Amino acid sequence: MAEFHSFQPPARLLLGPGPSPVPQRILDALARPTIGHLDPRFVAMMDETKALLRYAFRTDNALTLPVSAPGSAGMEAAFVNLIEPGDTVVVCQNGVFGGRMRENVVRVGATAVMVNDAFGTPVDLDKVESALRANPGAKALAFVHAETSTGVLSDAAALCALARAHGALSIVDSVTGLGGVSVEVDDWGADVIYSGSQKCLAAPPGLSPMSFGDAAVDVLKSRKTPVQSWFLDMNLIINYWQGSGARAYHHTAPINMLYALHEALVMLHEEGLEAAWARHRENHLRLVRGLDAIGLELLVEESARLPQLNAVSVPAGVDEAAVRRRLLEEHNIEIGAGLGELAGKIWRIGLMGAGSNPQNVDRVLGALGEILQRKAA
Ligand code: PLP
Repeated sequence: MAEFHSFQPPARLLLGPGPSPVPQRILDALARPTIGHLDPRFVAMMDETKALLRYAFRTDNALTLPVSAPGSAGMEAAFVNLIEPGDTVVVCQNGVFGGRMRENVVRVGATAVMVNDAFGTPVDLDKVESALRANPGAKALAFVHAETSTGVLSDAAALCALARAHGALSIVDSVTGLGGVSVEVDDWGADVIYSGSQKCLAAPPGLSPMSFGDAAVDVLKSRKTPVQSWFLDMNLIINYWQGSGARAYHHTAPINMLYALHEALVMLHEEGLEAAWARHRENHLRLVRGLDAIGLELLVEESARLPQLNAVSVPAGVDEAAVRRRLLEEHNIEIGAGLGELAGKIWRIGLMGAGSNPQNVDRVLGALGEILQRKAA
């Protein structure tokens, strides 16, 4: 019989597309004793978590909660709850994650009308307007606010306004946006938005904060067909997460992960949203200056760059995978590879959550510079 031992992860600096580094304070919260998921003290913490999520999303939406699974489940929850077989959804794709939205729409039995933009560019508002005009009955407009696969920020306020003007709901993916750049759910009039715990919120992966506006809740309540997913059916989940009286068991909540998310949100609240956005921006600018100094360029035009995810063009003749391997093996730094059509062409340097600080910027710049120089020598 083989011998098995406790797993001891190596000390990595996570500067990829997520997960981001988890501060010790959040890991400590995760390690606190597990209590019952219907314990009144736990329910009180759930209520605080909802209030903190409303703060982070800048919304008064009552139905604001973390789904008990990663960002992909938030995406799926948005589509299965709002879209029914036979509906039409305009889906914007300017990176890998728009393609996953399409997949969700199709699997619900609805029609996806695609608005495609080149990877590395933001969603084109004129094209979206034309698609909404050409499909007057479209139920929703779905788009990725912060495209992690390309490092692009799209104009969420304008896209939500377009959806509203055409009588469509807006479905917004801000898995990488929340906590790193301005997210204004109420000001935008976003109908449904979902995020992830492991990016700019700095908690471990496994939870998907979500918020549903009134129009979305009305659509949910007046569905003709039951939500195809029992686990993600918000009509049922509400009974566990909402109400002043007793909460009904739906599934056993990931109790310790919720401690971690709560702590992460307390930390975000202590820092202040605007301060967190400014920090992400300052460290991004420091990285851009340093990349320029070692002859590296960003893929995305300045006006559409995401501060928390920097897509760096791999110079001709450089083996991108070998550079990432050396960063990991020799410097204990993880950065990301390109996805989809950008595979082999970019590195993705994430400066997310607690990972966004000047020391980390200098460390990755120093290591990259050293590896590239060694290759050139
Ligand atoms: N949407 C975007 C924009 C993402 O970046 C990700 C993950 O990186 C997801 C959705 C899926 O989230 P998860 O990997 O947590 O399931």
